[in-house]
Amino acid sequence: MRSKILVHICCAPDAIYFIKKLREEFPESEIIGYFYDPNIHPYEEYKLRYIETERICRELGIKLIEGEYDVEEWLEKVKGYEDEPERGKRCTICFDHRLTRSVKVAQELGCEYLTTTLLMSPKKSIPQLKRAGEEATKGTNVKFLALDYRKGGGTQEMFRLSKERDIYQQDYCGCIYGLFKQKDTPVQWDLVSFRGRRPGSKEERLFIKEIRLEAETLGLPVREYEFPFLNWKVLEGKIEVNKEVIPSYVLPYSAPIRGIAKGRVEHVNGDKLFLNKQNVRIILKKPFGDLPLREATTLVNPTFIVPYEYKKKLLSEKITATLKTEFMPEKSEVLIIGNPEAEELLGIPADTLQDGRGVEKDKVLGFIEENLERIKKRSLAVALLGAESLGRSGSRFIRDYLGRDVELILEWG
Ligand code: SF4
Repeated sequence: MRSKILVHICCAPDAIYFIKKLREEFPESEIIGYFYDPNIHPYEEYKLRYIETERICRELGIKLIEGEYDVEEWLEKVKGYEDEPERGKRCTICFDHRLTRSVKVAQELGCEYLTTTLLMSPKKSIPQLKRAGEEATKGTNVKFLALDYRKGGGTQEMFRLSKERDIYQQDYCGCIYGLFKQKDTPVQWDLVSFRGRRPGSKEERLFIKEIRLEAETLGLPVREYEFPFLNWKVLEGKIEVNKEVIPSYVLPYSAPIRGIAKGRVEHVNGDKLFLNKQNVRIILKKPFGDLPLREATTLVNPTFIVPYEYKKKLLSEKITATLKTEFMPEKSEVLIIGNPEAEELLGIPADTLQDGRGVEKDKVLGFIEENLERIKKRSLAVALLGAESLGRSGSRFIRDYLGRDVELILEWG
């Protein structure tokens, strides 16, 4: 009978080379993947790492089981060790927790061996993992395999394989405590869950990865491109009339307001109202909703979009506005489904507006399925465009990088 090996998988970059090597070393064994990582925060990051693992397990032809995301239990276990450095006591508890659960699954599945892709991670201590694995399997009929595939250029090969497959490469180990210690950029945005898929967010990236997985299932060629763009975010903003906060969105690339702007409308141009303080501008909109920025721009007046029915009130009363915004260089992505040199290149925004409107996954997949033959025959390619609502950043990248113009076929709605 073939022996069975359960591989605890922490992420796709660590798994790709590790599992390939494992298969070479144990050609007769059945390999099963087990993604059990309740240590990963936030949940969108967890999903992103899981979906990439699903993609590579499919490529490697191995079964993948997703464990429970029991984050509260994990947090309870590491309580009191929040400030430990990487490779310290918190990491030992984290390994114990994940490997102990993995042993149970290995026993249920009748696996003789257990190993973990954590052994591949350059920042992890192999002796520390070996101890955790041996402790977790003690007294059971499961044997822990402490394999060192990093040596002999393994780490470099792992990075090469990951890059070749556009695998998402995280920049911190996984937990909230590591996030604060290991990242050299401000982390607050990593912990925010956005409504919809804001430009450059984890939600936007997850959407792109999900579509990629589906496109690959349909047998279509895909290619991902990462590009930098200048992101813009609202930290705080509101507009009040007589102490009543009125519904509003802030127009992308609005300049911040110094302190509080208190004033009255001094000029009207159609649906635009201009205040006599700090160049504040109000756009009246019916139906009420956010607007995409169709062209790249520099800073614009601090601009609020408000429902049209507030016009009378805004014209007759004193207005108070506050707004804090932030610009920061970030990265987004473009996914091309089909051949990038196909006769026609049509685009779909991957991001959503601030009000959450965007193209749904089913709509994108429906369009791809309807045009499957054209995509296969290279007469059409579809570009899923990240950060498109901020000055058509995705389309501009395609024009610059591939020298092609993209026509949008589906918009934010
Ligand atoms: S740094 Fe990594 S290994 Fe250590 S506790 Fe956090 S997630 Fe676990």
